Amino acid sequence: MGRELYEIENDELRLRLDPTAGWVRDMEGAGEKSLLAGPGDPGTLSEFHDAGFHPQCLTVYVNTRCNLRCDYCYDSGNRTRPERNVSLNAVRAAAEVVAARCKAMTRPFVLGFHGGNEPLLSRALVGGIIACCRKVAAGHGLQVLSFCTTNGVIDRAAAEWAARTFDGITLSWDGCREIHDMHRRHADGRPSYEEVAETADVFRSIDANRVTIRVTVTRNSVDRMRETAEFFHDLGFRTIHFFPVYRAANGTLDEKLAVDQSSFVFNFLKARSWAKPRAMRLIYSGTRWSENHDRFCMLRQNNLTMTPDGYLTACFLATSNHEQENGRFVYGSYDERTGKLSIDRPKLASIVARLRHVPLQCEDCYNRSHCAKNCPSLCPLSEPEHDAEFECTVFKWLGLANIIEAAGHVVELSTREECIDYFTNIRISRVPADRCDERVRHIN
Ligand code: SF4
Ligand code: SF4
Repeated sequence: MGRELYEIENDELRLRLDPTAGWVRDMEGAGEKSLLAGPGDPGTLSEFHDAGFHPQCLTVYVNTRCNLRCDYCYDSGNRTRPERNVSLNAVRAAAEVVAARCKAMTRPFVLGFHGGNEPLLSRALVGGIIACCRKVAAGHGLQVLSFCTTNGVIDRAAAEWAARTFDGITLSWDGCREIHDMHRRHADGRPSYEEVAETADVFRSIDANRVTIRVTVTRNSVDRMRETAEFFHDLGFRTIHFFPVYRAANGTLDEKLAVDQSSFVFNFLKARSWAKPRAMRLIYSGTRWSENHDRFCMLRQNNLTMTPDGYLTACFLATSNHEQENGRFVYGSYDERTGKLSIDRPKLASIVARLRHVPLQCEDCYNRSHCAKNCPSLCPLSEPEHDAEFECTVFKWLGLANIIEAAGHVVELSTREECIDYFTNIRISRVPADRCDERVRHIN
């Protein structure tokens, strides 16, 4: 597809946008602003499109255990499966593949421990995996950067160890006691706020800057996002990632928790305006204008992701394949006989081809190269017909807000109604080809 430009305008502003090159220009005033953090990585993008297998990060789902039973958990099915721990031999085989690629790309080896379970319940195994990956990486002259997601319900020794070990930690914490304990409870119904706050205290005392707080927003908390930002600010945390509760196709979400999309946009922007002058970063990862970005698929991010039962999965929601329940996402596994990964290359190519499918309603959208396209609510690997219309207000409006703010305008809205009015009155049009040509010549 050739280069396309868009004009974004309302009664107060007129912007021209190049979504591929990542710049926005204020047609009435100031000059051009870059939206992308860097020039992008054409190598990485073309690798994805050639359906090859070029993983540069390793993510490990360590176990099938979790000590909480959050009512919105996307992985609640895992709790009824037999307990499994990933094998070190399987991790070593995966690490060899990733390290070889990282060396070729002259990148550090990135190792992640993801949720869907609680990795720090298996601290000794996590330590063993890190040591194993360091050894493999050192053999290729590489360093390991390691990251961990945790629910924070861990003992103090594990919290101290994690804070000293990882380059980054994501702590799932929904806010004040009332909001957090509404959703994040133990299996026996006990609240978890107190334990999470104690873990956070340990993390903060060692290095608050390495911590991202991950807040799942539900219908019960959406109107309190600014208050939640203030709560974490007062505790000394500066990076907060808000995301509306998943409505995954294979999930079990109680519809009563689902968030009204315009309420999320309004409250996110309100919280972000409050946070910005206080040097806080409020993140929403569904629309990312600082990078070329697509659905959250692990393959799309060149991420080799291993489940506790040794399968390679394309989807961050598919955290095991014990009963072949996630076969559609699995493209390989660890082979004990050979001690290597066995990749089903036709299946891998088929998954990648399907993940490249752009929904009909996204084809002409200015946000197409920067948007998760309703993942995980809508998945091209699950839906037989993927061209149905779907609501994507959060993706679209937060994308617009980022562009407008990057161009130097302030998006400040006092009520949800004003927010709806503001975004629905923005006109977006593709710029005719002759004006595109003119612009392309200029920037080249
Ligand atoms: S698009 Fe599908 S496979 Fe990819 S991350 Fe989303 S839900 Fe998973
Ligand atoms: S149409 Fe919606 S989901 Fe598709 S790219 Fe645009 S904002 Fe994203």
